[in-house]
Amino acid sequence: MGKGTVIAALRERMPELELSVSATTRPPRSGERDGVDYHFIDDDEFDRRVRADDFLEHATYAGHRYGTLRSEVERRVAAGAPVVLEIEVQGARQVHREMPEALLVFVAPPSLESLRERLKARGTDDPAQVRDRLGTAARELEAQHEFDRRIVNDRLEDAVAKLEAAVREVLRTQ
Ligand code: 5GP
Repeated sequence: MGKGTVIAALRERMPELELSVSATTRPPRSGERDGVDYHFIDDDEFDRRVRADDFLEHATYAGHRYGTLRSEVERRVAAGAPVVLEIEVQGARQVHREMPEALLVFVAPPSLESLRERLKARGTDDPAQVRDRLGTAARELEAQHEFDRRIVNDRLEDAVAKLEAAVREVLRTQ
């Protein structure tokens, strides 16, 4: 399971957490729904939204663009609602600059080998994509120390319990 699985399990335990739905230029995988899993948009629309300053952060990952829309986050945060972003490292750095109060959690795969197996089993990426994603994951591991917490995504139950404890702690103190 990946970050998405961990976050879905976290939200079962903490339904008050709201999930920001990102925009991406990546094509939908089978079963993914527009507006639910992502806002699927094309490159021109992505550019337009960058120029309009609609993004809190945005980045390119494995050849596609991803971004967090301000409209998904800012109103909820202003209203005091806790919002979860499931994003990669470059985006996390930008969020940290814009919102230093955000808790940054690095969810690490147990090993790159386990990540390779998971990507292959998922079957949604061709071999070049798998290599690209593994290379990116290896580089991301080098940025772990920039995060407030690091959780190894080994046993789902353990990972979720640790994440829940970290989130509850930060919500108590904010
Ligand atoms: P995937 O294509 O597997 O859904 O996502 C690829 C990577 O992009 C994952 O690491 C995911 O967390 C990240 N990602 C998803 N949405 C966003 C976003 O809005 N901003 C950034 N920076 N990364 C994102």
